[in-house]
Parts: sequence; structure tokens; C-alpha cells
Amino acid sequence: MSGRLLQYAPADFARVLQGIPVALPGQDVPDEVDNARMFAIASFIYAALDSRSVEWSDYTSASSAYLAATATSHSLESPDAHIPSYIRADERSQNGIAHSRLAAAVKAALPSVADVRARPSSTLPEMGVWSCSESDCGHVIDPWDLTVAECEIIGSYMGVGADSGIVVRADGGAELNRQNPWQVMRCIDCLGWSHFAWHLNAHCIVFWWPDPTRAYKSEPGLWWNEERLCTHQAHRQLREQLEADELADQQNIRKWKCKMALTHAKKGLHAVRFHLTKWRRDAMLARETLVREMFQAGRSIVDTGLALVHRMDVERTNTDRVRLQEERERHKEMMREWTSRRERWSQM
Ligand SMILES: [Zn+2]
Ligand SMILES: [Zn+2]
Ligand SMILES: [Zn+2]
Repeated sequence: MSGRLLQYAPADFARVLQGIPVALPGQDVPDEVDNARMFAIASFIYAALDSRSVEWSDYTSASSAYLAATATSHSLESPDAHIPSYIRADERSQNGIAHSRLAAAVKAALPSVADVRARPSSTLPEMGVWSCSESDCGHVIDPWDLTVAECEIIGSYMGVGADSGIVVRADGGAELNRQNPWQVMRCIDCLGWSHFAWHLNAHCIVFWWPDPTRAYKSEPGLWWNEERLCTHQAHRQLREQLEADELADQQNIRKWKCKMALTHAKKGLHAVRFHLTKWRRDAMLARETLVREMFQAGRSIVDTGLALVHRMDVERTNTDRVRLQEERERHKEMMREWTSRRERWSQM
């Protein structure tokens, strides 16, 4: 850039830069004070248009005007971004049960049941009797001959009366309402799941399932029955294992959080530096245009230099630049914060 400057600058410019005295128009001999001033201003113009300035150190060396697409995608917005990827992978491999120890406990409680969360009605023979697939259980649910307990479970969701889903026959027996097959299937789900919950409860696992009266919006879920775990001496070993798991999980989550935050900060910093570089390049171009146009219009070195000073004042408070610099500081701060957090956690 500075090379070109010498081409369009007035003939005196190069001489002034070298400290050779020149006479201003209308002067017969060079004036010492004028020359000192011109020398300072010419040096300033030269430096302001110098693309090799040390100030460049904070910018990227990217030569393209476009930021690589991957560098901008530093978002934490994906729907399951808050769930560590190793947990997501775990979940897929264990029938949707995130914790391996919990999955193992379910397997121990119901070794013959492939998936406790699958709808029990899907294994019901056409209009037949549902039987627990746990081999030595033998529990059956007959939709056409409900027990009092089963009626109570359904009643807790559907209430009693005409819309309760239960029809009481003349012989006193209770059955599901055949007129509404959709509801029959829901009731079978509810009763089957409630039976599985009974199995799991003995192993300190709470099992819950979606409301049979509404469209299923979630799958059944399970978790440790913490209260039972704490009060039964027999479960002390399991409890201790779970506590150890919890600690390990905490460490893993922390590691994962650090990784996410540092990656985000690094990518963000790269992106913002890229934009700063581009901003800077445009600003330099505008400076050069200003100087060239003024020199070509016959303006003096001093006038041009003062205009450049004003231009650079405006650059300093430019909102785009200020915003980018703030963003850069934010990402730097994030980097510092998570690096020190990582150090602290690694010593725990
Ligand atoms: Zn059973
Ligand atoms: Zn117990
Ligand atoms: Zn960011």
C-alpha cells in the first residue's frame, strides 16, 4: 500500500519523508518549522497506510474475504446440545435408559422382558389375555374379567361412571369397554406398566408411564427410588456404588462442559478475529482512497494528514469495530475462565 502511496503523492512527499528540505509554494527557501511539521505529518500518513503495522498482530492472517463456513457454526443451539454426547450414545444402546447401572438393575429385575417401556398392549393377543413376559411371574391381566385392584388403577385415571372405560356386567364382573378399542389398548398399557412398576419397585426403581386418557406425549421413565435405597440396609452396597457413579458423572459432565465452552470460545475468537481483519482491511482501503483523492485534488501534505487524523478518530469509535472488539474480549474471557476452571477441576 505504501508503495502505491509514493506514486500518487506529490513529488515533494518522498523528499519530505527522507528529511530533505523543501520550499512550500510561494516560498523561495525552505522554512525549518514548516519542514519539521511536514516531515512529522508525512511520516504519519506513511504509517497510517502501512499494511505491515504491528497492530496487525491481533488479526488473522486469512487471505480470503470469506470466513470458512465451519468456523461460524459455533452454536450451542441444537435441541439436545445440553445433553453430553457420551450420554446420548449410552441412551441409544440401553433401551433409552441413560444410566448403565440403572439399565443393569432393570435387567436384573425383569430378565425376560425385552423392553419395559414398550407398550404392553402391543403383546396382547387379539382380544385376549395379557400375561407378564417375566418367565417365573405368571401374572395375567384379563381385560374381560378385571380384578378390583385393576378397576381401581383405571379408576384413578378415568374416574367412575359412564365414561370410566369399565363396563360392569349383569353378573357383577367388570370388563373394559369393547366399544372403544383405542381406550382398551390404553388401559392394557396402563395395567401392564403398573405391573412392571410393581416388579421394579422391589429393586428400588420407580417406574412411571404416560396418562392413558391422553395422547402419549412421552415415553415411560424410570429412576432410583432414593428413599427406599436409603432406608433399606440391604441396598447399602448399591447405594455406595451409585454415589461413586454420581461423582464420576459429575467429573465427566465437567470435562464435557469445559470442552464445549473452550471449543465455543476458540471458534468464536477465530470468527471475530476474522471479521476484525476484514473490517481493518476495509478501513485501510478507505484511508488510502482518502489520501489518494486528496493528493490528486492537489491538497497539501498537511491538509491530507489532518484529514487522515480525523478519519482515524472516527475509526476508533466505529460501532462495528467496538462491537467486534467487545465480542473478542468476551470470548477471550470465556477462554480464561474455562481454562482455569478445567485446571481447578482436574485437581479435585
Ligand atoms: Zn410379572
Ligand atoms: Zn429394599
Ligand atoms: Zn460465541
